[in-house]
Amino acid sequence: MERVNGGDRLANKVILVTGAASGLGSEIANQCVLQGARIAIGDVNNDKGSQVVEKIREIGGDARYFHLDVTDEKSWQRALSDINGAFGGVHGLVNNAGIIARKPFTEVSLDDWKRVLDINLTGPFLGTKLTAPYLKGSGGGSIVNISSTAGFSAHPDCAYSASKWGVRGLTKSAALNYSSWGIRINSVHPAMIMTPLQLTAPPGYMEASNAAIPLGRPAQAAEVARIVVFLLSDESSYMTGSEMVVDGGILAAGTWNMRTQMQKVIAAGKSG
Ligand code: NAD
Repeated sequence: MERVNGGDRLANKVILVTGAASGLGSEIANQCVLQGARIAIGDVNNDKGSQVVEKIREIGGDARYFHLDVTDEKSWQRALSDINGAFGGVHGLVNNAGIIARKPFTEVSLDDWKRVLDINLTGPFLGTKLTAPYLKGSGGGSIVNISSTAGFSAHPDCAYSASKWGVRGLTKSAALNYSSWGIRINSVHPAMIMTPLQLTAPPGYMEASNAAIPLGRPAQAAEVARIVVFLLSDESSYMTGSEMVVDGGILAAGTWNMRTQMQKVIAAGKSG
């Protein structure tokens, strides 16, 4: 756990993080704990989820594991009731659980498509709908949906891209629907983060990606997690329905590479 900016920005808030047994989710849990939050780890991987809890407890944090399959309405109902019982309220939700099929369009089966949409988009829908009453009961709260730069541009995996664009739309609709309940809902859009999800990428993938990132490297999970902490905290009290891009400059680059190549061609033509 990277120990920077320890403080009390989430003091006594109870935060549920889905997919927190691994990668970005576990780092979000860590960063929330460093800011005084009490954490509910929701995941389908009971072993890894329990290990994350142990590590947080070792540094004196308050964390508990709850089995939660984000695609299953009953699983949400059970987990939320248990979390509310254990902690006495819920103040924040991070819809982080996500998967990628990493297949070209022509090879994506209907089952692949449904599985990715189920976890990446239906999960945040169910989470928002079923957690909102608890947040309202706790005096309001914040929901953070983890999308991606694949929610702004084309990703080779069509199911992944569609799900992450969907999360943007869901976030905005939910933000408007729940503003009167005192609930703020925003999305976060990372590009490349060093997590186990990237281990599924083929050799050479990271090198190709680094060459295209203006900052020249992937994000550390903590660099994204700290943005999530900001959106969960009262420091972002006037933000709802908005998008935080954390991508090392990838989206800003847009047509930059093409245009700089064109400038070189023009310059070569003038000197020739
Ligand atoms: P990861 O594979 O390390 O972790 C994903 C977690 O989700 C795992 O613990 C897994 O058990 C859990 N999970 C899977 N299905 C679930 C289900 N049905 N219910 C509950 N939990 C389930 O992945 P990660 O890289 O940490 O990704 C986290 C989020 O960040 C995802 O939404 C992903 O799309 C997004 N993201 C990741 C990157 C990246 O480069 N790693 C970039 C942009 C966005």
